[in-house]
Amino acid sequence: MKQWITRLAAVAACTAAFMQPAAAQDKGTIGIAMPTKSSSRWIADGQNMVKEFQAKGYKADLQYAEDDIPNQLAQIENMITKGVKVLVVASIDGTTLSGALQKAADKGIKVIAYDRLIKGTKNVDYYTTFDNFQVGVLQANSIVDKLGLKTGKGPFNIELFGGSPDDNNAFFFYDGAMSVLKPYIDSGKLVVRSKQMGMDKVGTLRWDGATAQARMDNLLSAFYGKEKVHAVLSPYDGISIGILSSLKGVGYCSAQQPCPVVSGQDAEIPSVKSILKGEQSSTVFKDTRELARVTVNLVDAMLAGKQPEVNDTKTYNNGVKVVPSYLLKPVAVDNGNWKKTLVDSGYYKESQVR
Ligand code: BGC
Repeated sequence: MKQWITRLAAVAACTAAFMQPAAAQDKGTIGIAMPTKSSSRWIADGQNMVKEFQAKGYKADLQYAEDDIPNQLAQIENMITKGVKVLVVASIDGTTLSGALQKAADKGIKVIAYDRLIKGTKNVDYYTTFDNFQVGVLQANSIVDKLGLKTGKGPFNIELFGGSPDDNNAFFFYDGAMSVLKPYIDSGKLVVRSKQMGMDKVGTLRWDGATAQARMDNLLSAFYGKEKVHAVLSPYDGISIGILSSLKGVGYCSAQQPCPVVSGQDAEIPSVKSILKGEQSSTVFKDTRELARVTVNLVDAMLAGKQPEVNDTKTYNNGVKVVPSYLLKPVAVDNGNWKKTLVDSGYYKESQVR
């Protein structure tokens, strides 16, 4: 009997060890600095990374800075003081971290720019993100398709919104979108009645939906008296929701006046619901589970002294160096493929978006 119990205990210990091999290893702490909890994608990014790091035997120190730059700086400096092994940073303003990252480098702490490029410093080792230019291409293609521009329809009125000018991604999204839209604007098939073009005119500081809503209010009252707006390029779901609120306020999205075509990004739940209601037209899904996995594998390889896998060594020049990058593929989502892309993949439960 005693022997049997001992054997059982041994089996149990083995099973526990087998189930949590990593936790027992304690490979040190990874500091994860995320920009804000106001957007669900960053919450998912953080949670996914913590899970993946723990599974590989690391501890994770996950901090959110609520879009406050000094707050993020303080969080990062604190992580450096505590002696994290690696910093994984999705910056609020990609140009403000040089001082802190020098301190990290002095202590031998490696730095990964997560989704957003960190600029103006040599002290960033790798960049993991999605193909950001392609995100803009997908947003614009959805507008072109839904307006029927390829079949010669038009002219249509369009207004353009960009992301936060302190986020390098915003320029890639805008440039990608304009690579598709510009020829139609040049040929007169798309008309920007406000003439507001270029990131200096259409940027939305901190990706803020309320800021976008206020700008849309102004555009509608200044340029759309009798004329209707047929499409709005929006770089991010939170901005799309703000734009749609503004449009609804003046009678769009009704039986008399359908919503214009409005793009988006991140497949956030309010936007997926909006797509199912026939309001927002599309979004771009970026699987944060994949980004977390790629980032954690990269960190793990780096710390093991191996060569981490990258697939782009040309695109992301941060002003000081080209940062070796791993780019994932974004996927366009609309009312035709949301179920396959978002539910069948296990990203959301159908009940979350219905
Ligand atoms: C990210 C987008 C996100 C935006 C606003 C960008 O840096 O790449 O996925 O929509 O920030 O949070």
